[in-house]
Amino acid sequence: MSKPEKFFDENGLRLDGRRVDEIRPMKIEVGVLSRADGSCYLEWGNNKVLAGVFGPRELHPRRMQRPDTAIVRYRYNMAAFSVEDRIRPGPNRRSTEISKVSREAFEPVVMTHLYPSAVIDVFAEVLQADAGTRTAAINAAAIALADAGIPMKGLVSACAVGKVDGKLVLDLGKEEDNYGDADLPVAMTQDGDITLIQMDGNLTQDEFKEAMEMVKVGGKQILEIQREALKSKFSQFKTEEIEEAAVIETPEPDATIDETVGIETEVDESVETDTEVIETEDDNEKVGAVFVEDDANDKEPDENTDDEDVEEGEINE
Ligand code: ADP
Repeated sequence: MSKPEKFFDENGLRLDGRRVDEIRPMKIEVGVLSRADGSCYLEWGNNKVLAGVFGPRELHPRRMQRPDTAIVRYRYNMAAFSVEDRIRPGPNRRSTEISKVSREAFEPVVMTHLYPSAVIDVFAEVLQADAGTRTAAINAAAIALADAGIPMKGLVSACAVGKVDGKLVLDLGKEEDNYGDADLPVAMTQDGDITLIQMDGNLTQDEFKEAMEMVKVGGKQILEIQREALKSKFSQFKTEEIEEAAVIETPEPDATIDETVGIETEVDESVETDTEVIETEDDNEKVGAVFVEDDANDKEPDENTDDEDVEEGEINE
């Protein structure tokens, strides 16, 4: 791929016809792997990514267990055929770094304290790469975690912003990534808190501030696409079935002390709960995404684990 003569046409549109603040089209399919607890296939422009989540399950070897919390392992991997020139299979410095920062991008939302001694494995496989694969993988992994019913405070959405020919652009394409002046991948919670930020290249302070505004708007758009994908999967279940089986976590009533009558409990009717644990009666098989407040109900990690032979360090940690 050679450097394009110009990155913008006379109307200010980019090489692929996008506006500077426009993300590439994203398509998400939920629950594509039957052996995973949760999974997602995501296409974003020409990126194709598959994410699978396994667990929570007992962590082996036991000496790696943390008695107070689950650990999350995240493996980002590019398939050998995912780029023009074949990549040597197996971990390398880049994939090890991306795995680490991506795992950390989920730390603030995944409620690991509910599963002591357990492990949650996230695998993100890039099948076709075209710039922005770490952000694509994070978006897919967030969906796969939700599909697995892992309690989270919310989804994580990720997008890159960068600078090309002196202009800030959202969600860099391949040429923009290769020949641009800056590339800034960012992941954020649904409240807009940043959980990952990396930067290649240079931006002025003002450009950086503007870039962060742009990427937050992009993140919100992606969050909507992620939510729609989850909704369309779980709307397959009949409403009555869900209502029968659902356990709705209502928020703890606010207790206020009234000096004259002692303790008075007030339930704030206006507080909406977004805490919904949806379980079938059948062996607690999970059928729904779980977004919970901090005091969510515990769930034991799977008793049956088939990874007795997982060795320490096998996954990039
Ligand atoms: P990201 O994919 O998150 O943007 P990089 O900025 O490191 O990560 O990579 C940009 C793009 O460069 C990738 O999406 C991929 O298309 C390409 N790329 C990355 N690593 C390789 C590699 N080893 N061989 C060929 N192309 C690569």
